[in-house]
Amino acid sequence: MKAAKALPVERKKVPLRIKTEVLTEAGYRCAVPSCRTLLLLDLHHMYQVSEGGGDTAENLIPLCPNDHARYHRGEIPKEAIFAYKSILVAISRAFDLESMDRLLFLETLSKDFLKISGDGVLIFGRLIAAGLADVKLKANNNDLIVTYTVNISQKGRLLVDAWRSGDHAEITRAVSGPIPGLNDAGRVS
Ligand SMILES: [Zn+2]
Repeated sequence: MKAAKALPVERKKVPLRIKTEVLTEAGYRCAVPSCRTLLLLDLHHMYQVSEGGGDTAENLIPLCPNDHARYHRGEIPKEAIFAYKSILVAISRAFDLESMDRLLFLETLSKDFLKISGDGVLIFGRLIAAGLADVKLKANNNDLIVTYTVNISQKGRLLVDAWRSGDHAEITRAVSGPIPGLNDAGRVS
């Protein structure tokens, strides 16, 4: 008789409730801040099942197939994954994820590029309130049209840089630290 072939260990499916929680926390996007793709997200176990990690929301992070493969090739360090997770957890509680994508968007713009109306300002309300974005009233044409410009603030830039770096200490500093520029001899590192 033929010996029974060992079946590959079948990974238990992550319960839908947990999956939804993890994806919601990440805004249904890849957790890598330079990526943020919406497509075909895998849930990656930060601690593998063999390391005692389970199917809990704290242990799962959404990655697109490309970044998942990059992680397994060692191109994304494990510490960065933990850092991305910690920022998603902090952000999803302190802000809303749309705000964070708006922050990433602002970061890509040159200064004073984004001119918006009053209701446009409201969209950036949370970022402005948190000091991550700056708003300025623009000179207008004979008061007929009032416009504003919204830019990422120095603090916002520090947060985005820390997030992209995947460095946990930097993120902690950016999220909870004092306002940059007012300490450390006026230098923003
Ligand atoms: Zn990705």
